[in-house]
Amino acid sequence: MDQWDVAIIGGGILGTSTAFWLADQYDARIVLLEKERDVAEHTSRRNTGVIHRPFYLDPESRRIFARSAQTAYGMWKQYAQAKGLPFKPVGTFEVAVTPDQTSRVKKYYSWGLKNGMQPDELELLTAEEVKKYEPHVHCYGAVWSKTDTAVDYRTFTRSLRRDAEQRGAVFRTGTMVKSIKPTTDGINIHTSNDDKVQTRFLINCAGGNSLNVAHMLGVGMQYTDLNFRGEYWTIRKDQYHLANHNIYTIPKHPELPFLDPHWIIRADGRREVGPSALPVAGSYTYHGFFRDPIELIQKLLEPPVMNKLAVLVNRDFLQLAMEEWKSALSKKEWAKRIQEFLPEMKVEYLAKPGTAGVRASVIDEKGNFLKEAIELEGPSSYHITNYNSPGATGAPAFSAWIVNKLASMGRLDHLHPRTQSVKGSWDYQTVAESVGGSNHTLQPLDDS
Ligand SMILES: Cc1cc2nc3c(=O)[nH]c(=O)nc-3n(C[C@H](O)[C@H](O)[C@H](O)COP(=O)(O)OP(=O)(O)OC[C@H]3O[C@@H](n4cnc5c(N)ncnc54)[C@H](O)[C@@H]3O)c2cc1C
Repeated sequence: MDQWDVAIIGGGILGTSTAFWLADQYDARIVLLEKERDVAEHTSRRNTGVIHRPFYLDPESRRIFARSAQTAYGMWKQYAQAKGLPFKPVGTFEVAVTPDQTSRVKKYYSWGLKNGMQPDELELLTAEEVKKYEPHVHCYGAVWSKTDTAVDYRTFTRSLRRDAEQRGAVFRTGTMVKSIKPTTDGINIHTSNDDKVQTRFLINCAGGNSLNVAHMLGVGMQYTDLNFRGEYWTIRKDQYHLANHNIYTIPKHPELPFLDPHWIIRADGRREVGPSALPVAGSYTYHGFFRDPIELIQKLLEPPVMNKLAVLVNRDFLQLAMEEWKSALSKKEWAKRIQEFLPEMKVEYLAKPGTAGVRASVIDEKGNFLKEAIELEGPSSYHITNYNSPGATGAPAFSAWIVNKLASMGRLDHLHPRTQSVKGSWDYQTVAESVGGSNHTLQPLDDS
């Protein structure tokens, strides 16, 4: 049997950056198991590609995500520069599409400052001022976050994998975890290649599959999840001029913030509009509603069934789901949603389907969607689930914070700390403390 000190399940941006920090800090046998042939094959590539500044995150209820995003901005900026990776500052206008949303615009401005953004990175704009910058946009006012940036998270993740490997972490791609069993001194993992892997400690970063992995160990049984596919349309090139910044709209349902339409600029300059948030049956359902009928039945009957029943009797949710289906089926409905803030949008400007990614949203016993990531402890294991947007932005900071937290809980006592640190772009202690500590300035790191 293969013996490891730590095994990580999932080679998305979270698992890869966790492997990076563990190998950076410890002289240990670290393995990452990823079912696909490469890292970042799922949500970590199928996303909007925005480095989100944390102006829209409540500094109290979304504290860790806000701090992770704030800390990580400077990290990514420095990393992209050091490695020659795409980094395109585009800026975001978060616009009020109804008069009553202007109070939320102001709230976002104050949250941005509370979360550590600098006053010159944010500006409140009236509708007329928005018109000066974006003449085609209709709104009642906006907050302009000037440093939101377009990147390619797949290239970031691949590059982080190389850095982790240089520090000694082993990436086993094409290796799917089929079952996990606790033993007296760790965990036994059975993989699709019929390998038997033994680890003293397991970290579950399996993204849309993370709750299923936790359930294999009887952990997090009070939770279940629902999957929503976010679809985008690529805009016809001759209409790129309709907006030169990202245009996001204030969420109509703050508890379901992923539903509101936006216009984004990709790192390569493409313009896309989206997303829909179509309920689908599985984490990898990129087309249609389910990949096979068994998958759908399994999803609906997956315990605990009560959580899903609680959501399914929620009229707001059902209405939203219906609306999402309508726009998934009709391009005209899509264009209509975008016209809310870009009245000149026409069906024929939607050139072809863009990227689609699936979000797994965890729901509790009362049918509430949980906003922050959930950390669950198990026997010789730690599970991170509900790691949703802006998870890609915050990953290098959030993962340092997790590693630091595990160390302070004594869960990494079996590892040997490195006596000499490896030279790299980021300082572990500063990053971890910037997310979790109270005596720091919350500046984006190294954003000199
Ligand atoms: C439509 C959409 C747009 C988004 N846009 C943004 C954005 O602009 N900015 C931002 O910051 N965030 C964004 N996000 C969120 C962000 O993409 C995610 O938070 C982040 O990518 C999650 O990373 P992850 O590593 O947890 O998951 P993933 O990238 O899904 O990685 C999990 C990995 O685990 C592997 N795995 C699963 N089960 C097993 C198993 N049994 N054995 C082995 N391997 C397994 C999978 O193959 C996968 O590679 C967006 C999300 C969506 C859905």
